Amino acid sequence: MSSVQEVDAAHPGARDYSRLATTEFRRERMASLTALVVGVGALGNEVAKYLALLGARKIWLLDRDRVEASNLTRSVLFCFPDIQEHLRAGTPKAEVAARRVREINPDVSATAFVGEVGDLGLGILRRADLIFCCVDNEAARAVLSRACLRLGKLLVDGGLGLINYSGGLVSIFPGADGPCYVCRKGQTRRRELLQELFGTEDPCWVKEKRQEERGIVPTTPLMASIIGALQVEVGLRRFFSAVPGTEGTSYRLVLNPVPELQVIEFSRSPNCPLHEPEDRISGLETLKQGCSQEITPRLLFEQVSLSSYLTLDWPLTVGACCRSCGYSWRPFLRRARMRHESCPGCGSVDIAETSTLSEIESGSPWQDYTLAELGFPRSQIHQLVVRSQDGSRPHYVEIGDSFEEGQAIKLCS
Ligand SMILES: [Zn+2]
Ligand SMILES: [Zn+2]
Repeated sequence: MSSVQEVDAAHPGARDYSRLATTEFRRERMASLTALVVGVGALGNEVAKYLALLGARKIWLLDRDRVEASNLTRSVLFCFPDIQEHLRAGTPKAEVAARRVREINPDVSATAFVGEVGDLGLGILRRADLIFCCVDNEAARAVLSRACLRLGKLLVDGGLGLINYSGGLVSIFPGADGPCYVCRKGQTRRRELLQELFGTEDPCWVKEKRQEERGIVPTTPLMASIIGALQVEVGLRRFFSAVPGTEGTSYRLVLNPVPELQVIEFSRSPNCPLHEPEDRISGLETLKQGCSQEITPRLLFEQVSLSSYLTLDWPLTVGACCRSCGYSWRPFLRRARMRHESCPGCGSVDIAETSTLSEIESGSPWQDYTLAELGFPRSQIHQLVVRSQDGSRPHYVEIGDSFEEGQAIKLCS
């Protein structure tokens, strides 16, 4: 029995995919593909729609926001009769999009993840074959690009309105040995992005930056469709190609005033610090017994080595104090997330961080908190550094938290 028939037998309601049979997107390829779409705005809607039509096996959708009335001019997956209900209820975008994907093609298993890029455990990202980045801010792109690099995943980044409202850019980052998003930035922007990535940023700069980012970029459904289609087309072709290569490729498209497509090849920047060999996740051990709600750093040390310490992907704020009312608390939040926080006592945003953590040593008072209490995402891959006489080496442990596919999953905050 051919694999195509097997797939169809497993799904009695399967589509007739014969028109795709001689294309790059033939059934045996698409029926085994798990694609993650990060950002379910105008672009993410289009990417998800095309992946659904092509019959990807699994489409995972990640977005932290809820549907809004202003989305409807550019978001095909939200334009259904029951949308008023979702607008009233404030249904997350990822959840509405996942339902539509299942309706467009019942062969697809669609899962909604409600949260930010940093809330998605690396273990979930690891289980995706191909990642489409459809977010509208550079910091999230940098976080995702770094994660894909460490896991050796192909990342297809799309952006709208970068040149003017009738333009867009699609970039392929091959993962592993290739360039990353930060490689493509000039010296100043790179430094700013790295500061933001590692939580060492100057809070004033971040606040200014947020103000700028709040400026609304004009987006048309036409460009979202064109750039989304380009993202899926070149992304799948690259993924399925026999020799995916280690160079990056950008497609810069402008339709107005004169249609023009520029193809730019790019390599890893020798000055980008995100390519240290020890950051590459390899030799992964998965802890199946126990979940993030139960496992503590102490348990990890006992499992791996008592002369190890846990390094955090980003600094964690474990102590904060309100300058207005004096209230102090333990937020257990990424430093980058702290900037959105207000005082639980009085609501003031004038908050001081009093204690941050970038590693947890064996024997430290933090070793008995569970990974969930410490604010780590579910299915996270943790990096322990094991000290020995020959120096130190990284050891990667994935927490085998399970999630139910085809559901809406609220990621930890
Ligand atoms: Zn780089
Ligand atoms: Zn306060």
